[in-house]
Amino acid sequence: MSVLVYVETEGGSPKKSSLEAVAYGAEVGKSLGKKVVAVVAENSAAQLAALGNYGATEVLQVQNAPALQSDVVAEIVVQAAKKVGAEVVVLPKSTLIDAVAPIVGVKLEASVASNVIALPTLSNGFVVRKGVFTGKGFADVQLSNAVKVLTVKKNAVAATPSNATATVSTLDVTVAASAVAVKETHKQSGDISLPEADIVVSAGRGLKGPEHWSMVEDLAKMLGAATACSKPVSDMDWRPHHEHVGQTGIKVSPNLYIALGISGAIQHLAGVNSSKVIVVVNKDPEAPFFKSADYGIVGDVFEVVPKLHEAFKQIL
Ligand SMILES: Cc1cc2nc3c(=O)[nH]c(=O)nc-3n(C[C@H](O)[C@H](O)[C@H](O)COP(=O)(O)OP(=O)(O)OC[C@H]3O[C@@H](n4cnc5c(N)ncnc54)[C@H](O)[C@@H]3O)c2cc1C
Repeated sequence: MSVLVYVETEGGSPKKSSLEAVAYGAEVGKSLGKKVVAVVAENSAAQLAALGNYGATEVLQVQNAPALQSDVVAEIVVQAAKKVGAEVVVLPKSTLIDAVAPIVGVKLEASVASNVIALPTLSNGFVVRKGVFTGKGFADVQLSNAVKVLTVKKNAVAATPSNATATVSTLDVTVAASAVAVKETHKQSGDISLPEADIVVSAGRGLKGPEHWSMVEDLAKMLGAATACSKPVSDMDWRPHHEHVGQTGIKVSPNLYIALGISGAIQHLAGVNSSKVIVVVNKDPEAPFFKSADYGIVGDVFEVVPKLHEAFKQIL
């Protein structure tokens, strides 16, 4: 019996959300006294043994998997789970995995909990805490089926590396190509993927117009950050729609979210409230965003941002 963790990669390396899932799985494995097996489907994934740094005992690398659509990934996870006798299946949070988790749940006849924010408690059954109401509340849910499938919210656990390594072996799976065929994939402009970004510099209507965005882009470039915006900003075509974060846009979970001239409406907060640290710059001291901020600067963005830029220049 074991704990199985599915690992997603980007550019050949495991994504941060997947390292967090491995770290989570390692803690669950420790509590249950089970080994922790990571399964990786991308052939290009580098440094697989290093998944041991985050607590995996073994890594299974799937060879020649077809294009990673949700049904394909679900089948890989199911076959890996059966092979290693997984009692707990841990999945990282992503748009793809949102579709994968329920399929895996059905195929393994498992109890499923998504958006998990804390390690399970085992004193009275297997109970996990999950975020609800777009992160404004939590629910403790008991999972009673023999197999449990959990998706772990980004930033819910820290992924701190150690020196341990894992053994890597290949896993042969028989998976048919998806019935849904991807014809073409276009990467969004910008080098840093917004959902995966460690730092996000985001701006709202307080910027007054698209002509002022170079200020936001320059700050983002200096910090190695992705840029984002509020919904009205993309609705007015000041910025592209794929930068819009919030309830109806992208959900981000960076270590640092810098909000410039954004009021902090509940629909915006729904997309950013799992950020580790939130810094808000707004000229209105009553702006609702300050209630969710770790650090707030009451001031005009056109005065504060150049000062921030200068200050970062001194230390970076
Ligand atoms: C169903 C629904 C879904 C929605 N989904 C989303 C969503 O996904 N994402 C989203 O963002 N919104 C969403 N909204 C819209 C949301 O309710 C807000 O209207 C929107 O987030 C406000 O954007 P904003 O903060 O950029 O603009 P505003 O509300 O106009 O706020 C601008 C802020 O900038 C400040 N400001 C102005 N000038 C300066 C200056 N010079 N220096 C510093 N600060 C300044 C102001 O004090 C103000 O707080 C949704 C709304 C609905 C009804």
